[in-house]
Amino acid sequence: MIQPENICGKCILPNGFLGVHLNDQGLCNFCTDPDHKNINWSRTEISQERRNTALEDWNLVVERMQRDHGKQPYDCVLGYSGGKDSTALLDHLVNDLNLTPLAVTSDTGFMTEIAKDNMRDTLERIEVDHIFIEDAAKTFTKLYKWHFFHHNSNETFLARYICDYCSDLIHSIVVKEAMKHRINYVLFGYSPDQIFRYFYEMPRDEVIKEWKPELLDEPVFEDFDRRWYLTDEETESENIPRVLLPYHVIPYREQDIIDLVESKNLIKKGHADPLLTNCNVVHAATFYDFNRYGGILYAYQYAELVRQNPEARKKWLRTLKISAPLILENKFKQREVNQFLEQIGVTQEELLDHIHKQLAQDPNKETIELNIGMFRKKKRSKPAIPAQ
Ligand SMILES: [Zn+2]
Repeated sequence: MIQPENICGKCILPNGFLGVHLNDQGLCNFCTDPDHKNINWSRTEISQERRNTALEDWNLVVERMQRDHGKQPYDCVLGYSGGKDSTALLDHLVNDLNLTPLAVTSDTGFMTEIAKDNMRDTLERIEVDHIFIEDAAKTFTKLYKWHFFHHNSNETFLARYICDYCSDLIHSIVVKEAMKHRINYVLFGYSPDQIFRYFYEMPRDEVIKEWKPELLDEPVFEDFDRRWYLTDEETESENIPRVLLPYHVIPYREQDIIDLVESKNLIKKGHADPLLTNCNVVHAATFYDFNRYGGILYAYQYAELVRQNPEARKKWLRTLKISAPLILENKFKQREVNQFLEQIGVTQEELLDHIHKQLAQDPNKETIELNIGMFRKKKRSKPAIPAQ
């Protein structure tokens, strides 16, 4: 079971967790030095000044959209996922700001039924045009498959790669749709804690240079797949929209968002839980990561929450103790994970085999195996045979 001497005394990161080492006092790098960073995690602090500037900008953008309202069919594009945040943002745009957004959804092929159900409920009550793009699912599947079999790093999690490449593709598809309609603003409902890569605005330079991955040159990818990314002609054009994340600057409280979408019947009670609308690919990547690295990407985020609120440490340690063995053995979201593995054409055993081969080459193999052993549920020992 979990050995306290292997876990940071202040947060919940274990010794040997990707890029983490405990010092003589049993504290991890992040707890010893508030400015510590590694490839997987850095604490992003946004200064009040930067926040104010961004909020002023958002107010100007709203003013401009309202002033030009009616001159074009749409004021902005909203990247719409069917989760609570993009639903609440849709409601805010339409009902508070009197704007006409075009809602755009790109189906990865792994959207949950609940997310789709939420969309039906919402679009019955909020009248907006909605574009639902299904054709890209094949490209998403190829992208996932490529990463599951080519991820070969001793430093960073598969989940990080999967999430970044997948969201770059989603963002590209939505931006392309905006360009097709000559719309100047693209909005996404990222919550204020989702600031690891972007705060308030996705810079134009990154939209152009960083979203299209080099791996598209690999032979498995075809023109069909490349067409979802911005073409050279598009990146050179003047009408690349601004891509903004309003919840980074306007008031946001998770519970208020849930109450709002439920009370307006935009989302059924209980369907706003992010665990239900979260993508299943992440659960599969988490299964991979735990078996490969003895930990998961989200642990950094939970550890940061504990640093900010030490009283929560007990709760998170308990969560870790309960969920770790389930994730390791693919018992957490098992059906969804297996469905995903089937779709990329691999069995759980084959994937584990692949993971173990990579782990065998990792210089940190011993520590990783020690951590996996610590988190794995102890098999109940057989009852002793009573002496005759
Ligand atoms: Zn720590």
